Amino acid sequence: MTTVIDTLGRPLRDLRVSVTDRCNFRCAYCMPKEAFPKDFAFMARERLLRFGEITSIVKAAVPLGLRKVRLTGGEPLLRKELEWLVKGLREIPEIEDIALTTNGSSLAKKAKVLAEAGLNRVTVSLDSLDDATFRAMNDVEFPVARVLEGIDAAVAAGLTPVKINMVVKRGVNDTHVVELARRFRDQPVIVRFIEFMDVGTKNGWRLEDVVPAAEVLQRLAAEFPLEPLPPKHAGETALRYRHADGRGEVGFIASVTKPFCGACNRARLSADGQLYTCLFATAGHDLRRLLREEDADEARLGEALAAIWRGRDDRYSELRSDDTKDLPKVEMSYIGG
Ligand code: SAM
Ligand code: SF4
Ligand code: SF4
Repeated sequence: MTTVIDTLGRPLRDLRVSVTDRCNFRCAYCMPKEAFPKDFAFMARERLLRFGEITSIVKAAVPLGLRKVRLTGGEPLLRKELEWLVKGLREIPEIEDIALTTNGSSLAKKAKVLAEAGLNRVTVSLDSLDDATFRAMNDVEFPVARVLEGIDAAVAAGLTPVKINMVVKRGVNDTHVVELARRFRDQPVIVRFIEFMDVGTKNGWRLEDVVPAAEVLQRLAAEFPLEPLPPKHAGETALRYRHADGRGEVGFIASVTKPFCGACNRARLSADGQLYTCLFATAGHDLRRLLREEDADEARLGEALAAIWRGRDDRYSELRSDDTKDLPKVEMSYIGG
């Protein structure tokens, strides 16, 4: 089988795998407490794809063009012994890059073992350096110092460059962007400012709460001169800038004001084995049924994946409008961020 392209000519390069829909944080922009209370019915264990099943799907996607895997969730480090999945993926020679997106709450404990298992890089979500703001944003009183320890551990373990994701919400943390950029300038850490997105249906998204990347850039540029950098690779989601004095880099993920669907080469696999071809999709493709009920081998899985990808026409962020806002989109904690 050869590399497949979708109806808009985009290849499949990157698979984001949600390994659990659970999380120990309740960030209001993702899993607000009211929608995800203590007794919320998360996926039963037997519904979750086993590590071997995830590895089979990745192997089946390699001949189609897949080269990158990102483990996410929910909070991926809540999944026990995640390093075993990393080890399994590392054994697939074509997979060039294995990354993890985490809230960092248990990264201090896990960074070394994950790096030893073959993880290449880590992205840590960190919305403010101010402890009170951070605790309010994670909404479970989690202290910022422990996430900072996790970032230090990731740097020490060589999971670099570490990326930091800061979701910027107007009136909540938009005045904290300069402090975050300054703190990591002299470390192998790239801070990325993310526009608050209308993922799912539960986070009360309003356009007024979005701080456009251009506005964040202006705030930063008032403090330190920045120069644009070219994209590192096709399908790059971040607009990159470097500090003019050469000390550090920042990025902007402007999915609301500058959508990047044209080069989107990502698919997402939910923890229960549904494949989604867009972050804003309303329905997935059931790979777990293929694996468990039809006992599909890699060749069969590959054919199914190729058919799904060939039919793909998603470009939600480019089409975002009044007509799309009430669609029954799946939640980010389920589909994987
Ligand atoms: N729990 C992990 C974490 O927080 O890094 C991984 C999953 S989380 C869903 C992945 C990323 O999505 C995080 O960086 C988070 O900040 C981002 N995210 C979640 N909801 C978002 C939203 N409504 N708009 C923009 N980014 C969002
Ligand atoms: Fe949890 Fe990550 Fe969502 Fe925050 S953004 S609630 S840490 S999954
Ligand atoms: Fe890709 Fe969908 Fe996001 Fe567009 S909206 S960049 S197609 S995931």
